[in-house]
Amino acid sequence: MEQKPCIFCQIVDKKIPAMIVYEDEKFLVFLDINPLNPGHMLVIPKQHHRWVHDVHEFGDYWEVAGLVAKASINALEAITINFATAGFQVPHAHIHVIPRFKDDGHGEFPLRQTAKLVEDMNEEKMKEVYQKIKGFIEGIKPKVEEEPKEEVKEEPKRSEEDVHWMKRETEIG
Ligand code: 5GP
Ligand code: ZN
Repeated sequence: MEQKPCIFCQIVDKKIPAMIVYEDEKFLVFLDINPLNPGHMLVIPKQHHRWVHDVHEFGDYWEVAGLVAKASINALEAITINFATAGFQVPHAHIHVIPRFKDDGHGEFPLRQTAKLVEDMNEEKMKEVYQKIKGFIEGIKPKVEEEPKEEVKEEPKRSEEDVHWMKRETEIG
């Protein structure tokens, strides 16, 4: 029987589109297609792992979740972030990063039944949120310092006459 291709692996391979707000060598962060609040993101390892606890670079993984969480607090003026890991719908490790807002309808924890800020979330609103978060992250990415270039000393230009006399000197010894 043919195995179903993993949807998040396809996002990593850019075979299907996603609103990617952060990408590095090992991890990818994109907006959840069906958010519980504006700015709901999923942080995934590029390598396929079934569960969050299977990810080898566990510390680095959560560092990325922390980075995009702080960025979205600033970009969207959220109160705080709820982190969640479940993974029964999509079998590729993902951390839910869910910004929380005043009067967002949710209680202690965001649920589908209480998601009121995303009731009218259309493509345009998703794009707006995406641009705010992505823009903020791009602004705080550490700038890679340019290595100082080694000075290349150019050979002094020699006239034909100089070359002639240099040759003569080596011939004479
Ligand atoms: P879980 O597996 O933890 O229950 O949740 C999976 C999450 O992935 C859901 O919140 C769902 O909306 C999201 N999701 C499923 N398929 C896609 C997709 O193709 N693109 C994006 N951006 N999110 C997806
Ligand atoms: Zn996968």
